[in-house]
Amino acid sequence: MIKPDAMRNGHAGAIIDRFIKEGFRIVALKQTKLSQEKAGEFYAVHKERPFYGELVEFMSSGVIIAAILEKENAVTAFRELIGATNPAQAAEGTIRKLYATSVGENAVHGSDSDENAKIEGSFFFSGLEQF
Ligand code: ATP
Ligand code: MG
Repeated sequence: MIKPDAMRNGHAGAIIDRFIKEGFRIVALKQTKLSQEKAGEFYAVHKERPFYGELVEFMSSGVIIAAILEKENAVTAFRELIGATNPAQAAEGTIRKLYATSVGENAVHGSDSDENAKIEGSFFFSGLEQF
């Protein structure tokens, strides 16, 4: 997912270009906006964390781009490409280092396991939207 901060700051094109250049195949892609309810559902695993309210507020604050990306070892490769959650700790050249503003507004989301990637993919896309 490309988060609302990166959308507002005009980085969506550069970020998608990076996905493609790093060898990810686009299986599905769309712009949409999460309601507070949907954002809360998406990040439900973090419900007990102190930043949950802020996270839900931010993730529903503007449009996002959702994508399903395919590559060998995609989860690991993608997390390497986006960098650490906190951009201050992200490696040089990673998407979060280049485009994120803060730990809360950190430009992109990546799934943390193949299992969650499946769940998150079907959160946004029907079978007819995946190629
Ligand atoms: P994501 O799941 O969005 O890809 P991540 O896996 O790197 O990020 P998580 O620990 O899953 O990090 O946290 C989910 C999101 O919650 C983070 O991307 C960030 O937007 C927000 N978040 C995490 N830690 C903090 C924090 N300490 N303060 C504010 N927001 C935070
Ligand atoms: Mg996560």
